[in-house]
Amino acid sequence: MQLKTQQGGMGFCPSAETAPHAFVAGMAASFAALLPYSDVRRRVTWEGFCALPYHRALDRILKEEYASSSIKLPHKRHLSSLVNFHEHFRYTKDANKLQARLMEVVRADKAAKVKAKASLVEKARLESRANKNTASIWSMYPLTKEFALSDQDTRFLVAYATGASPPEAPQYCSCRVKLTLEHMVTCGGAKLLRHNMLQGRLVEFARQHNVSTEQNPRLTFEDAKNMQEPDIVFYPGGEVHETDITVVDPCSAGYLGQNKGNVKLTTKKACEEKQRKYLEGAKARGHTFTPLVFETHGKMHDDVKTLLEMFASNTIGRSGLAVRDMALDLQITLATGNAICARNAIARSQRHQDLMRGARAPRC
Ligand SMILES: [Zn+2]
Repeated sequence: MQLKTQQGGMGFCPSAETAPHAFVAGMAASFAALLPYSDVRRRVTWEGFCALPYHRALDRILKEEYASSSIKLPHKRHLSSLVNFHEHFRYTKDANKLQARLMEVVRADKAAKVKAKASLVEKARLESRANKNTASIWSMYPLTKEFALSDQDTRFLVAYATGASPPEAPQYCSCRVKLTLEHMVTCGGAKLLRHNMLQGRLVEFARQHNVSTEQNPRLTFEDAKNMQEPDIVFYPGGEVHETDITVVDPCSAGYLGQNKGNVKLTTKKACEEKQRKYLEGAKARGHTFTPLVFETHGKMHDDVKTLLEMFASNTIGRSGLAVRDMALDLQITLATGNAICARNAIARSQRHQDLMRGARAPRC
């Protein structure tokens, strides 16, 4: 089902839960469309009308679904009453898109209940995903191959968004900690590949918008700690921009502890850390420095958008990309990178599990 951007853009709920609202909306539409032209109300008494099987079903559903609901008809009249329902939808066009309006309230209600019952990590995940960047990936229809994810990557994207760990994942990682979804996207060398994939996309955008670049490719993750040279330097033809890409997981145990569960601080802290490492060097060279911070759940720092806007403003003629398309491209790259990290971690852990099992097997 679709959720609002503020709620992460996507959620799942059984269709059996939406069926009663669809029935109510259908009845409202048929009341409004048919009753004014029918003589059924003249022929049948109100009691007889209410005794019709579909009205009995409607009466039961209204009472079950809306007795304690915040959904009200105009003048604060309860929707749970068949009399109110009948009077309101007899002639009005309020039945238009009623199902969508009912579902919006039901979804908001459900999302609030899920949040209230969530654990600390689940709450952090919900908050990390409740933003425009993260939600944008659900709008990627495979109209062009550039905006499509493979089935395998989509499966991990949904697993990571909902917190449902892949069934084939072992319980423990090869590094002997619990193999959670958050651990899958942060453990091992594949995160270097994810970093370089994002770097590659940004350099490609720059090339398409006639911005010259200079890169310092990362070869090992360990080097990054002491490396004071930025990832990419952009030369758009005025000010020179030095940038450094970092991907952080706001729901990892480290960041959650450091920020006392406030996931909104993650990007800010990562930015400050990068500024500390690179800003002075960039200034000495007469350049500006911009940290490009991505969260594994999809949130991007505003500076990433500013950079994409700079590319778009450098468009000459008709060849160029819209900021929205570039942002979606980065989201897809990030999701692919996360899926690679997870596959890698799962495979490594399965191998480790097998080795351990082998070591413990009795010898014949
Ligand atoms: Zn690990």
